[in-house]
Amino acid sequence: MTTATSEPLAEPPHCATCGTELAGRFCHHCGEKSLQTEDFSVRGYLTDVVQQVTNLDFKLLRSFRTLLFRPGQLTREFALGRRRPYTPPLTLFLMANVLYFFLAPHTNTFNANLANQLHQQFYSQWATNSLVEKHRASPNFAMPIYDAKYNLVSRDISKSLVIINAPFLALLFFAVNRRRSRYLLVDVAFSLHFFAFLMILLTGLGLFFQFKGQFSDWLNHYFELVVALFTFGYFALAVRQCYRTSWQEALLKAAYLQLAYLITIILYRLLLFLVTLQVA
Ligand SMILES: [Zn+2]
Repeated sequence: MTTATSEPLAEPPHCATCGTELAGRFCHHCGEKSLQTEDFSVRGYLTDVVQQVTNLDFKLLRSFRTLLFRPGQLTREFALGRRRPYTPPLTLFLMANVLYFFLAPHTNTFNANLANQLHQQFYSQWATNSLVEKHRASPNFAMPIYDAKYNLVSRDISKSLVIINAPFLALLFFAVNRRRSRYLLVDVAFSLHFFAFLMILLTGLGLFFQFKGQFSDWLNHYFELVVALFTFGYFALAVRQCYRTSWQEALLKAAYLQLAYLITIILYRLLLFLVTLQVA
């Protein structure tokens, strides 16, 4: 039986999963592997699993490295159809999202707490009025207790709401970038990559600033300025790299994107407030 390595297990060479006739070891229709005798050894199977897991790790590592150090390159690869070596944009975004909500609790970018909502936004006066209006009838309303409750609820909601930033920014970008990207999906990928980058940046900077001392007002303003410089730089490099534009066009679009991003994030925080107010 040791010589029977090439003996086919299914008599006619058809894919075991979808039935397509096979040419080679992998089905060209669904990707299923055509099994040989050695695929049934426990050792072979384990080697396969280990290989798949390490491949996934390499993929992820490669994707994060490219995202952080070569802005725009991941989106370009995605647009050109070189997708297998990298983690898909949405998956990358979700992973950065998890990282952000685990490690960067002190930034108010995607997770605006009640104090931020009531004092630091252009709609804060209106937000305060809505809050007062809603709880006018509750006799035992206590701000410190409500504040804690609100922040917990807001944090939970923001984890799933945060995704809407990506399509929104993508639409704003597509409006001026149509000629370059042709497909909205490419701008969606661009946007997902940007937000993944931003969340990693916020996590890194957040931890750094936290290490430097508690978040004071001064530090908060400084923090936002540093983040803005990073995002503008990322936009410029990414547009140039992804769409092969001139520096002039890249800088112009970066300025537009920076503005579009600010609008996106303000609308997001407003929406977050509205939804949280309904629940908390
Ligand atoms: Zn198949």
